Formats: sequence, C-alpha cells, structure tokens
Amino acid sequence: MVLDNLGSSLRGSLDKLQGKSRLSEEDVEEIVKEIQRSLLSADVDVSLVMDLSSSIKERATEEEPPGGTSARDHVLKIVYEELVDLIGESTDIPLEPQTIMLAGLQGSGKTTTAAKMAWWFSKKGLRPAVIQTDTFRPGAYDQAKQMCERAEVDFYGDPEGEDPVQIARDGLEATDDADVHIVDTAGRHALEDSLIDEIEEIEGVVQPDLSLLVLDAAIGQGAKEQAREFDDSVGIGGVVITKLDGTAKGGGALTAVNETDSSISFLGTGETVQDIERFEPNGFISRLLG
Ligand code: GDP
Repeated sequence: MVLDNLGSSLRGSLDKLQGKSRLSEEDVEEIVKEIQRSLLSADVDVSLVMDLSSSIKERATEEEPPGGTSARDHVLKIVYEELVDLIGESTDIPLEPQTIMLAGLQGSGKTTTAAKMAWWFSKKGLRPAVIQTDTFRPGAYDQAKQMCERAEVDFYGDPEGEDPVQIARDGLEATDDADVHIVDTAGRHALEDSLIDEIEEIEGVVQPDLSLLVLDAAIGQGAKEQAREFDDSVGIGGVVITKLDGTAKGGGALTAVNETDSSISFLGTGETVQDIERFEPNGFISRLLG
C-alpha cells in the first residue's frame, strides 16, 4: 500500500476505520482534520491545504469504495491521489547534453546542489561541468571547487573575477568538452533588484534549457514570493529541496511548485556530493503527512 510512514495521529484515525466498508461524515471530518494538521506543520501553504482538504472531503464522502476495498484504504488512496495531483511527478531530466541554471537565495544550498547534480549526471555516464558565477558570497569559489574535486567533475570559476556574466561566458567556453553544464549563480540574503538583474543577465548569456529554484526545506511562507520573482525573471522549470536530512518537511516546495506551475526535481539529503536523490512523490508525501 502507498504511504507506509504516516504520522501516528493520522495513522490512529485511519486505523479506527479498520473493518468499516463505509465512512460516516464524522470519520471524514476527523481524517481531514488530521491531514490538515500534518500539512500545516509541514509548512504547506494554508490556502493549498484548504483546497486539498475540500477535494478530499468531497471525494471521500461521495465516492463509493470499489468492491473489496476497505473504507480505510479507499480514503488513503484519495488522499494520495489528491496530493500527487498537486505535487506532480518528478521534473523530467533527460540524460542528454543540456545547460541547467540554479537560482535561489544565499544559503539555500545552490552551490552544494550544483556539485551534487554534477556527481549525479556523471554517475549516469554524462560529462558534467559546474560553472561557478557566485562572486557575491565569500568562499563560494573554494567551496564549489572542492566539492567538484570530490565529485570528480569539471569545474570552472574565477576567484579574481568580479563580473558574473563574464564568468558565465568564459565558463561555457572553458568547459566546452562537457555535455551537461550546471551554472551556479549568486544569491542574496533577500530578494533584491540586484539579484534579479544579475540572474537575468546570466540567463541571457547561458540560455539554460532548464532553470531550477533551490529551496531550503525549512522555507515556509517565503516560498511563494521567491518562486514568483524567480519565475517572472528567468522562468522556473523545477524545484530542488535541500536539507531534507533535517527535521523540516519541505512543504514550502509545494507552494513553489504551485506558483511556478512546475515540479520537484531533486532532493538534497546531506552535505556531501552523494547526498542527492531524484524526487519521488510517494516518499515525499509520506514525509509531509508523517
Ligand atoms: P548557497 O549559498 O545557496 O550556494 O548555499 P550552499 O550550497 O553554500 O549551502 C549552504 C549551507 O547548507 C552549507 O553549509 C551546506 O553544506 C548546507 N547544505 C546544502 N545542502 C544541504 C543538505 O541537503 N543537507 C544539509 N544538511 N546541509 C546542506
């Protein structure tokens, strides 16, 4: 059955349905309330939670469980389907030559994700290169270089460079032998005009096939504005959620996915280059509800 790692209170409510073939209105109310509680504490946007709960309530009340299906399994299936509908499948990442640009605020995990993704592509038999254009954050160059060495992938950066757009241009030329180019960009502590201007210029030079928004799993309501700004400026085709090895559940990513009409591509689960996974809805949904 889908969703094996549910939180104990939701599981408790579901277990009360054991043996029932039909759900009462109170049963549905209780389950929906538990789901709301879980999703809100996982930082899922309030209006998304409300939309989701009304669809779940409607379906659980109106749809008859198919023959042989218990009420418990039926409601679980509805919850799962509605969440998958919202979250979607993983972003399509073709295993072919391409350029991917990473966007996000400082500290979200872009540099780490760039090296991790390069490692991931190299394991798939491609030849990736990371181009580090972050001239804003001290230490970004060294960090990226070291991680790329560990990942055994090509790297370009210019520790003396001050113009990220020029670095991007030079980087593409210098890593001509690579087939997948991953362009890391500078963040800022907050959304500032200078950040948006800079990333738009880099995008113009790099012309990425895909731009990914990197979000810390702990991001809450801030996800919406970031997603909107970056989507308006460079077009976001997918979201990366980092730091899922911590306690945060990453519900803010749903807001971003919804806002950018995109999907989740990768998950970051630690600080080393191997700590990356492709997004997969089942595990993520279990975590959100857990
Ligand atoms: P950037 O400013 O967006 O480039 O962010 P960094 O890549 O420098 O990441 C900021 C901090 O978060 C660093 O200390 C990283 O080691 C850490 N970090 C990034 N991704 C993860 C992750 O998936 N798990 C954990 N635990 N730490 C991470």
